[in-house]
Amino acid sequence: MAYDVIVLGSGPGGYPAAIRASQLGFKVAIIEKESLGGVCLNWGCIPTKALLKSSQVYEYAKHGAAYGINISGAQQDFGGVIKRSRGVADKMSRGVQFLMKKNKIDVIMGYGKLKAKGQIEVTAQDNSKQTIEAKYIIIATGSRGRQLPNLPIDGKSVIGYREAMSLPTQPKSMIVVGSGAIGVEFAYFYNSMGTKVTVVEFMPRIVPVEDEDISKELERQYKKQGIDIMTNATVEAVEPTANGVKARVKTQTGEVSLEAEIVLSAVGISANIENIGLEELGIKTEKGKIVVDKYGQTNVPGFYAIGDCTPGQALAHVASKEGINASEHIAYVEKKNNHAPEGIDYNNIPGCTYCTPEIASIGFTEKAARDAGYEIKVGKFPFTASGKASAAGATEGFVKVIFDAKYGEFLGAHMIGHSVTELIAEVSVARRLETTAHEILNAIHPHPTMSEGVKEATAVAYGEATDI
Ligand SMILES: Cc1cc2nc3c(=O)[nH]c(=O)nc-3n(C[C@H](O)[C@H](O)[C@H](O)COP(=O)(O)OP(=O)(O)OC[C@H]3O[C@@H](n4cnc5c(N)ncnc54)[C@H](O)[C@@H]3O)c2cc1C
Repeated sequence: MAYDVIVLGSGPGGYPAAIRASQLGFKVAIIEKESLGGVCLNWGCIPTKALLKSSQVYEYAKHGAAYGINISGAQQDFGGVIKRSRGVADKMSRGVQFLMKKNKIDVIMGYGKLKAKGQIEVTAQDNSKQTIEAKYIIIATGSRGRQLPNLPIDGKSVIGYREAMSLPTQPKSMIVVGSGAIGVEFAYFYNSMGTKVTVVEFMPRIVPVEDEDISKELERQYKKQGIDIMTNATVEAVEPTANGVKARVKTQTGEVSLEAEIVLSAVGISANIENIGLEELGIKTEKGKIVVDKYGQTNVPGFYAIGDCTPGQALAHVASKEGINASEHIAYVEKKNNHAPEGIDYNNIPGCTYCTPEIASIGFTEKAARDAGYEIKVGKFPFTASGKASAAGATEGFVKVIFDAKYGEFLGAHMIGHSVTELIAEVSVARRLETTAHEILNAIHPHPTMSEGVKEATAVAYGEATDI
């Protein structure tokens, strides 16, 4: 079979790349070894958000009286929660199947390996092989959970994220190793369900990529919720016990031993770049990722790579934009588009964590802005002063904004609280349009909304606040 474009991998990078290529008039095939939609739809973004929604419903049910609604005997059904999450994931995956059909993209199920320039060999589950060809190949093989040598995942007492969202029974206790987005989301979920959770983080603070104020607030909120947190701590070794595992944890003051039914390793990702034929074709990799230019082109003409298997933030929305860019660049090269795509500003990528309270951030942290030599204006608006947050019974958290003092450039925003993952898109658009504080203050924000927090924090930065 001959195509114009073949996409290897159908995650949030691969399937939009395939659709965009088809929209641009190419004959397209997509190869997938497991489930359409990749990690994001099947084992990442979507099923975790479904789990977290169940946590939220349970919290509301337990604390209904605070809203004047008495619900007695609210109980969670762990199996039901997992089942709902898997159902949501399956539905989304079927949605991708529909999109492929709608866009006349051939779906080829099997393991794809790059063979020669323009050729991929696909091995189906029954071991039958076929070779398909295309002028352009977009590699979108994504990533898997990273394994630490001293924390090997056995899928039972030491688990990764896949097992964490599909456990048959709820563990009584859990050690979560790593406090990035995945670690803290699961910590929140399991704690809310009644599992005793301890988070062990190697760095001095949890969610270490966030602004320091966000880390402090999340730690405060998590401790209030009953989650134990150990920072500057490393799991040295784990050994099985009668009821689970014992973890030897090195801290700044010495070694401690922690016992739990289960350990969740949430220590980052490894790109899927092995055994797909990169070495044979001379496609360059560096630090475990495929090297690409701003259009996603590898060093070998005709081969593009996008998403988690390339450098850049490992996020679904980044993968999708990279996929679309790659297809648009192919169209430009093939003279179907008269301009090249713009490329991505990796300093303007929103990052969201969907625990409670939620976290959302974009651009420079306060420290990064100072380190970069900016003179800055910082404004912080606490949700205790927000009418909408008060009405929602969710006054924890704040919006923090950072502007360049000289020109008013919107350098960054860092939020923690109810619904902030919806608020961050305003800042993404604002920064994209090179909006200054002046425009934010003069754009009317609806009342009462959480989004007023962005305007209010800006007003605080400029000494014009009226609500605090
Ligand atoms: C628990 C968890 C929660 C997350 N939550 C969020 C979130 O809320 N928001 C967010 O933006 N990101 C989130 N992420 C990250 C997000 O899932 C990834 O950034 C995103 O899925 C990357 O997309 P991708 O297309 O590059 O790769 P993937 O989604 O990994 O897809 C790659 C696909 O390629 C297939 N494949 C690989 N090799 C081959 C081969 N040789 N032949 C055929 N098929 C192959 C795989 O089976 C897979 O389907 C989360 C991740 C995890 C693990």
